[in-house]
Amino acid sequence: MAKEIVLEINNLTKYFPVVKGFIRRSVVAEVKAVDGVSLAIHKGETVGLVGESGCGKTTLGKCALQLIRPTSGEVIFHGQDLTELDDKALRPLRKHFQIIFQDPYDSLNPRFTATDIVGEPLRIHNLLSGKAYDERVAELLDIVGLAPYMADRYPHEFSGGQRQRLGVARALALQPEFILCDEPLSALDVSIQAQILNLLDDLQQKYGVAYLFISHDLSVVRHISDRVVVMYLGKIMEISNRDELYSAPMHPYTKALLSAVPIPDPAVEAKRAVQVLKGEVPSPLNPPSGCVFHPRCPQAFKDCSEILPVLGDTGNGHHVACLLYKESYP
Ligand code: SF4
Repeated sequence: MAKEIVLEINNLTKYFPVVKGFIRRSVVAEVKAVDGVSLAIHKGETVGLVGESGCGKTTLGKCALQLIRPTSGEVIFHGQDLTELDDKALRPLRKHFQIIFQDPYDSLNPRFTATDIVGEPLRIHNLLSGKAYDERVAELLDIVGLAPYMADRYPHEFSGGQRQRLGVARALALQPEFILCDEPLSALDVSIQAQILNLLDDLQQKYGVAYLFISHDLSVVRHISDRVVVMYLGKIMEISNRDELYSAPMHPYTKALLSAVPIPDPAVEAKRAVQVLKGEVPSPLNPPSGCVFHPRCPQAFKDCSEILPVLGDTGNGHHVACLLYKESYP
């Protein structure tokens, strides 16, 4: 039986206007940060979202949670299109989707104790008070492996990994169905990264929460994801289940990204051929015609600058947007 969909994103775009003029401000261009993305995330699933910085990963995640309002498209949650709801109507739904930020220190109020931080969502949504509130906060600290004596400490008294545990506890407070993890490990030491990854994994097993896990680190994404989405210049280039993406990538961009991932075996690592992409990522202000990857693609051919590939289904849930495959011709 197909798994229940928690969040469905349909043809989502986010264009940021570029305005000119001081008194008479007019829109002179648009930055196409996210351009026609469709994606379904299932209950208890982790979808890894990878790509170079500036490819639109975080904007897509924030649009999915309506932290940034998209320009067009739909975000369906339990049959409701979140893009059609105003802030007031969205408020009660927000408890079902949470976010874990990149830098745990920046995202925690320095004047709040651990108890205040973890209990904040409960207070905002007026869910618990008194003893029940204290007990729930203590339970959350315990779930993420923080000792009770730490409850009255302030963020600066915690290590980086412990601060991220506080961020995880806060995100879990309302028992969400979906958590956006926005580069949650990139500010942490490698040894601590593994602990947080394992914690996220355990919590998913226990509570069935779905993650959209944004990262530029393909090794981390490989560890935690069920499926992986590769983005480039605001568009999805490839979606596949994790094992197939890493063992048999189809898109030339995915192949280039994977060629740069270090291999733990020194003998294999010594023979690894890193594929260096030519040029810079083009500006999303003026994306290339046809396939947006064509100026840098080592396999580009004539059609590539003229035809925009669609995300074609090549079987087994593997989708690719590249004209080397007939499924990608519109
Ligand atoms: Fe390369 Fe052409 Fe495929 Fe784009 S469509 S990835 S340019 S081969």
